[in-house]
Amino acid sequence: MRLHACLHQIAPDCEARVTYTDNSHTMVSYRRSGRRIELRLHHMFQDAPEDVLEAIARNSIQRLTLDTRRRFNSLIRSYIHRNKDKIKPSTRNNGQHLTYGTVGRVYDLAKLGAQVNSDYFSDQVDVDITWSRRPNKRFMGTWRQASNGGRNLITINRLLDDERVPPCYLQYLVYHEMLHEVVPDEKRNGHTIKHSRRYREMERQFTRYQDAVEWAKHNVERLYRSQVRRRSVI
Ligand SMILES: [Zn+2]
Repeated sequence: MRLHACLHQIAPDCEARVTYTDNSHTMVSYRRSGRRIELRLHHMFQDAPEDVLEAIARNSIQRLTLDTRRRFNSLIRSYIHRNKDKIKPSTRNNGQHLTYGTVGRVYDLAKLGAQVNSDYFSDQVDVDITWSRRPNKRFMGTWRQASNGGRNLITINRLLDDERVPPCYLQYLVYHEMLHEVVPDEKRNGHTIKHSRRYREMERQFTRYQDAVEWAKHNVERLYRSQVRRRSVI
């Protein structure tokens, strides 16, 4: 509540929403639209001193000179540094793949994966799943094989942990990646074919395949651009 008080002192008519997270990759971020300001902070900031809270509040609301912004940022960074033992390290599954959790801001991949597994694979797929560390443009989903016989890992682009993304698209992606568990890669002339004809046929058995593909075609680029505008302070 102290941060709320701070925000209201600076901008009495703002409507602030503050969420504390356990994200180990973004410590402070904010999004403004008109009078509304949405702040997302690592839970370490619940005990932050007044000057740090004020720096966050002013950074997110006021237009500041570069010097002031730098001073505030270094205040916030040194607080993070002093409290870095509160940041949960990302974990490795099988001791080899980095994972960043299944619970996102909007979607829980564990729940989503369990549903897809039950709907399409009779719960037979045994695979780990994680959000990617950050939103990225390189992939929507990946499937990586564990080299030591451990569980393979599906990674879904954190870009898609967004209320504008329909569940059917995420389900489709998870289905696509889970299918790699079931349809083996084909080898032809020394090449590995991950998406063989058989694979593509099975992929189209996803009930909302067309909807999912169409949605991605028209929305992913826009989603990426809008999230890049969401400013990450630290
Ligand atoms: Zn694939």
